[in-house]
Amino acid sequence: MSDQQLRVSKIEDGTVIDHITGGQALNVLTILEITGRAGVPVSVVMHVPSDHLSTKDIVKIEGRELSEAEVDVLSLIAPSATINIIRDYEVVDKRRVTRPDRVIGVLHCPNPNCISTKDEPVESNFEVLDDAVRCAYCDTIVRDDIAALIDDA
Ligand SMILES: [Zn+2]
Repeated sequence: MSDQQLRVSKIEDGTVIDHITGGQALNVLTILEITGRAGVPVSVVMHVPSDHLSTKDIVKIEGRELSEAEVDVLSLIAPSATINIIRDYEVVDKRRVTRPDRVIGVLHCPNPNCISTKDEPVESNFEVLDDAVRCAYCDTIVRDDIAALIDDA
């Protein structure tokens, strides 16, 4: 089996996330709350040469299809990703992620004085910019390491 075949070996049912920005695969797993402890078979390939990106990562998750909310957050750290839904070894749906205008209740604000980080009944609310997210309450802008702001559910 060639190296390439090994990388693209098929799964029976689940999701293949392709064209993830190189190095972001582990953050993708964090978003999906896949810790390695659950009994979900997951394959991760990192830093594969890519036509579109300098390198890309690929994540294959068996027996699970992603929700719309998960795909939205994924788009923040992997804007070029494609989502392939697999059923019975066939790709039944293939789409690009699209960046939402805002994400609510998903990220937490890094500003400790922000009203959304106090014990107030306020859901976090971030506007999605071209290359960053901005808190709707305190205007804090986050460009790097957005994955670190993802709330532990
Ligand atoms: Zn804030």
